[in-house]
Amino acid sequence: MRIEDALQRAHEAAAPEVGRGRPAEYIPGLASVDPHQFGMAVASCDGTVHVTGDADVRFSVQSISKVFTLALVIAAEGEQIWRRVSREPSGNPFNSLLQLDQEAGRPRNPFINAGALVVTDRLQSLTGDASGALRDLMRRESGRSDVDSDADVARSELEAGHRTLAVAHLLASYGNLELPVDEVIDQYVAQCALSMSCRELALAGLFLARDGVLSDGTPLLSPRETKRVNAVMLTCGTYDSAGEFAYRVGLPAKSGVGGGILAVIPDRGVACVWSPALGPSGSSAAGLAALDAFTTYSDWTVF
Ligand code: GLN
Repeated sequence: MRIEDALQRAHEAAAPEVGRGRPAEYIPGLASVDPHQFGMAVASCDGTVHVTGDADVRFSVQSISKVFTLALVIAAEGEQIWRRVSREPSGNPFNSLLQLDQEAGRPRNPFINAGALVVTDRLQSLTGDASGALRDLMRRESGRSDVDSDADVARSELEAGHRTLAVAHLLASYGNLELPVDEVIDQYVAQCALSMSCRELALAGLFLARDGVLSDGTPLLSPRETKRVNAVMLTCGTYDSAGEFAYRVGLPAKSGVGGGILAVIPDRGVACVWSPALGPSGSSAAGLAALDAFTTYSDWTVF
């Protein structure tokens, strides 16, 4: 089936789920987003983009940012980050402190909050401006120089961020942060508060489908590093529903509590879907239904 038609089927399949469930409420800046929105964009490796629905409405990328910060750290210094973060699925919610304490401060993977804080800490040490480095990458790859962090969302996450602070302090107590907790948290909430549309995110993620090659033809990651980042997305990108997600969608993917999901189809392209109402594991319910239908009707799958 043509991509345009598979996209249409995906939109239809998602329609009954749109607005079911609730937007993330623990970040006040996200709770007020209209849950009845739905958008999806599919970017092919050559840069062609097909869209449906609210694909040009910007939303808070939240944890989708964690794939990109991981890529930037690996690009800067290879795979040394794995000394400080494991790469096993957690089976626990994204904000859990449980396994962190059991495993002597080494987070289970880079996509739960604990692991992402370690990655941000490293990126901040390497660049002096982790969220700025991320923003610049997103601007370049999306082709939109006005991509930016939403200061209100960042501030509201900071004000309500007791759990994130607790995770960061626990990491620090084990000696797994190089920088002061407050500096790492500031960078982390700024990276999560990046505001982008499905179209922009799909374009920004294309290097993951192109063996690590950026839009200007230069490599950010090697093919091997890219394959590995995608593998960690497949097993850990959707938290405690990674098994169900792999079963229904079968693609490396990263979700965020803003309601976005970015899915990679190596050598083909990237699909990005957004609808703010979340299912029980903190991923978009309509987004899951859309990607399920998209992989069913297109032949874009890794299996
Ligand atoms: N900024 C959010 C948090 O730390 C990101 C969580 C997510 O998108 N799963 O809680």
